[in-house]
Amino acid sequence: MSAIKKNYRKHHCRGMGAVFSQYLDKELAQQVCRKLEKHLRDCPDCQTYFDTLKKTVTLYRGLGHQKVPPDAQRRLYKVIRLEAGKKGEKK
Ligand SMILES: [Zn+2]
Repeated sequence: MSAIKKNYRKHHCRGMGAVFSQYLDKELAQQVCRKLEKHLRDCPDCQTYFDTLKKTVTLYRGLGHQKVPPDAQRRLYKVIRLEAGKKGEKK
């Protein structure tokens, strides 16, 4: 039913952004890292987000920044959301 789809799209992932950047900064405990990795395996949305975030963080660090600004992270997530929607339509 469509109700299941709606619920899936509305899941908790929005809060994962901060966890991801902490993970990338290696600030997370190993236990949390494992949880995060498990979630990534089950959640294509977060996989895309994490992959893009990783690239962005690498880019920022290459430019001499320590962390990706929260504003950039938010924009990033918006773009990914839009792309995920497009992908679903084409298939
Ligand atoms: Zn997720």
